[in-house]
Amino acid sequence: MPHARISPRLLAALLALAAGSAAAQGTPASPDIKRQQPQINKIVAEVSPKRIEAYVAKLVGFGTRHTMSETESDTRGIGAARRWIKSELERCGAGTALQVAFDSHVAPVSARISRPTEIVNVVATLPGTQDAAKDRLYVVSGHYDSRVSDVMNYTADAPGANDDASGTAAVMELACVMAKYKFDATLVFMTVAAEEQGLLGARHWAEQARKNNLNVAGMFTNDIIGSSTADNGKVDNKQVRLFSQSVPATREMSDAVRQLVATGGDSDSLSRQLARHTKEQGERYVKGFKVSVIHRSDRYLRGGDHMPFLEQGYAALRFTEPAEDFSHQHQDLRTENGKVYGDLIKFNDYDYIAKVARVNGAALASLALAPAAPQGVKLRTDKLTNDSTLVWQANPEPDVAGYRIVWRETTASFWQGAKWVGNVQEATLDMSKDNVFFGVQAVDKDGNVSVATYPMPQR
Ligand SMILES: [Zn+2]
Repeated sequence: MPHARISPRLLAALLALAAGSAAAQGTPASPDIKRQQPQINKIVAEVSPKRIEAYVAKLVGFGTRHTMSETESDTRGIGAARRWIKSELERCGAGTALQVAFDSHVAPVSARISRPTEIVNVVATLPGTQDAAKDRLYVVSGHYDSRVSDVMNYTADAPGANDDASGTAAVMELACVMAKYKFDATLVFMTVAAEEQGLLGARHWAEQARKNNLNVAGMFTNDIIGSSTADNGKVDNKQVRLFSQSVPATREMSDAVRQLVATGGDSDSLSRQLARHTKEQGERYVKGFKVSVIHRSDRYLRGGDHMPFLEQGYAALRFTEPAEDFSHQHQDLRTENGKVYGDLIKFNDYDYIAKVARVNGAALASLALAPAAPQGVKLRTDKLTNDSTLVWQANPEPDVAGYRIVWRETTASFWQGAKWVGNVQEATLDMSKDNVFFGVQAVDKDGNVSVATYPMPQR
């Protein structure tokens, strides 16, 4: 039998079919997501307890940083403090892309403001370098204002060494260290005022962000990260608490929130996904240090600068030391029956603050190097089946290599399994959607993994 000749058209069709089936069978290999990013290791190593200690000492040296304290002096009061923070950030950011500015507004008289007062945040922005990612922002904050027992007392010495010179110093150190590096997304290092007077500085920035449609993909506040000694004297310098809100407590539930709750996803809110990512990356780069995720927005009776961001629908978390000593917070400086009250510099542990700053740095760097969390993630629920099909939109970043599906049992808090599915927008897993929670992550060519997105049901 003579050998059959294949026409060029048929050959082309057969080759295309073969290529298609090869891609279907053999997904291109995953980038190495276990690889530690050298840039993140450098950042973590460069964070210096010595510099953090010097920043705290300088801040305490302004006597009081009460929001209504004087602003004329160059040595005392909140005006001197913010001018110093700004000049220090400008000095250490010189020669880098870091942009330092005041963000100011006048607060009218209110419960904790007795005369119209200028509230000034110091904001240092490190613009992202990737076109598709530079409009995605990650914010890290600490508050530089301080107080004593009477929240309206703006003249007494209020060192605020822990609450919150510790967080302010950590943010300054992170800005100075990270400004020397490049990130795809934009980082915003913020020291805010008037936290103690009702979160006014952070609220102003968060409201402006929402008004200007800014894409704040994550926010951390560092508030009271200074001490590793509890009120009973026990030292625990091996962990930090990370407070993470679930479903936003709004009176009128949005459609998104209602769907989240209806599918059991109340622990898969934006803030919870950010907390999972932060714990994973923080513990990966800062060895022997635990990020203890707490499933509530803050401690009882307390609040912080993450809350105005939560109010605006952004993902926001709070870092705080493991066990606080309340006799060292919001107190008039005094000694009673041999017990020392006050937020004094001697109660801080600078190696501890540095560890918390490193966790922040590792998480921020990994967020700003990685793609955004995938959008439009849906779980097909049009038919009753025991497998699970997920679909999602392609990410905009040019360096995305593909996607990864993660899952956990419904009673578990952190991801337990993962599957690399390649550069596709749909995948079916032989697992029942009824029994697990899924998430979809984008992975770039260097192995940087995004925060996971919870799928909404698609009927
Ligand atoms: Zn505070």
